[in-house]
Amino acid sequence: GPALVWLRDDLRLADNPALAAAAAGGRPVTVAYVLDDAPARRPLGGACRWWLHRSLTALAADLATRGVPLVIRRGDPAEVVPALAAETGAALVTWNRRYEIAARELDATVKAELIGRGVRAESHNGHLLAEPWTVRTKAGEWFRVFTPFWKATRLLVDDAPGPIPVPERIVAAPDVPSLAIADLGLAPRAPDWSGGLAATWTPGEAGARARLAAFLDGRLVRYAAARDFPDASATSELSPHLRFGEISIRTVYEASRHHAAATGIAERTLAKFQAELGWREFSYHLLYHFPDLPRRNFQPRFDGFPWREPDPSAIAAWRHGETGYPVVDAGMRQLWTTGTMHNRVRMIVASFLVKHLLVDWRIGEDWFWDTLCDADPANNAAGWQWVAGSGADAAPYFRVFNPVLQGEKFDPDGRYVRRFVPELADLPSAVVHRPWQCDGVKPGGRGRRSYPAPIVDHAAARERALGAFSSLKAGA
Ligand code: FAD
Repeated sequence: GPALVWLRDDLRLADNPALAAAAAGGRPVTVAYVLDDAPARRPLGGACRWWLHRSLTALAADLATRGVPLVIRRGDPAEVVPALAAETGAALVTWNRRYEIAARELDATVKAELIGRGVRAESHNGHLLAEPWTVRTKAGEWFRVFTPFWKATRLLVDDAPGPIPVPERIVAAPDVPSLAIADLGLAPRAPDWSGGLAATWTPGEAGARARLAAFLDGRLVRYAAARDFPDASATSELSPHLRFGEISIRTVYEASRHHAAATGIAERTLAKFQAELGWREFSYHLLYHFPDLPRRNFQPRFDGFPWREPDPSAIAAWRHGETGYPVVDAGMRQLWTTGTMHNRVRMIVASFLVKHLLVDWRIGEDWFWDTLCDADPANNAAGWQWVAGSGADAAPYFRVFNPVLQGEKFDPDGRYVRRFVPELADLPSAVVHRPWQCDGVKPGGRGRRSYPAPIVDHAAARERALGAFSSLKAGA
């Protein structure tokens, strides 16, 4: 009988195990996406909704060249998916697994419902190099430390089969009604704030492949040396493509390995890049085994941390890039205009919120969730907890970044700051990260657009953060 493939965070044709299984043997296939807006399953933020709109559009076009429609529905998948299976007469429904607890519970419900109706339901691994329950310590436990986790994962991966190609033939099942992608209301209108995102990104499988090719051709060789410099264009910029599964993690892992071997890229450089893919795996490992990762401190002793009562004006200054610290403000404005932020700068702005402003990391995680195109249930929560010090294998809390020195170290000539903070564009490099030392820049200063004075003093904020942390230790 016919099959139904239910796509979620796997909007691609290549190396898509659920699609390949559904299409095997020339079985007629319905390819469906169901927009699920249930509050219980944390709805996508604004930037991701924009991305999804574009990604579905690209996927529908790719499928159309193969004569296959993309069926769009909306609602609770626990009802919509079994109903669609009945409508299409599917004897088999396939999907690739997800790892957030609410999604896992939903998928289990759908599976039970299908089986109850005599329909086969099959889940696959399309999102990770290794399933979180297969990576174990010698004692059979899950990992809380990255390095041994990644070592164990790589042993599994090196034995696993490589990526699978796009099915040669996908036979379309008879048409069923579909919403138009535009009916989902994912793209922003009035105001349409997506211009900067559209100028930065090409969502979809072809866009993902192009990013990978560009990374392998020019950037990988410089990766280990230059990845920390936000203006160096040395990283892959694959994260939103991986977030939506427009390219598979196995494809990226294998392609980087082959390319490095073929072109003689140093082992160390390749290992550095692959370790970042490893942090993604590790974040999912944590999310799977500690489902509250996006909400609760991984280290419970942080539950008593004396966060300050949220100060709306300080939080607004952080969100909008008006803190008076140029590298922080450049990062927050890059995020707002392009839907991404360089990793080094994510660490700096997150540290600033959590330590300089003593704001609970969950407030920052929420803002990133709404504004990042790669906003990811595992990576975002793990990233914030790592910076806050509350996470697994996290940065120690007492290491407080100095935003001026970080700026001077990783953006030495200020090019990154000048790109996103035009008020500072004509400042000499020597003061671009400390504009208060330059006479022309004053709040409301003449001639040049005003740039705010620092909203907190670094030395005082650092002392305050360390004091908060030591109160925690004393109480724990
Ligand atoms: P590359 O350096 O080219 O790395 C390749 C891939 O590895 C990335 O695309 C990503 O999938 C993965 N990766 C790299 N670094 C990390 C990391 N530290 N943790 C987990 N995976 C990683 N990444 C997200 O994908 N989504 C998020 O929501 C997210 N939120 C973050 C929040 C904070 C506070 C911090 C400090 C980091 C966050 N990261 C997040 C991790 C990291 O910043 C981004 O993955 C990276 O900047 C993406 O750029 P790239 O694709 O060029 O990375």
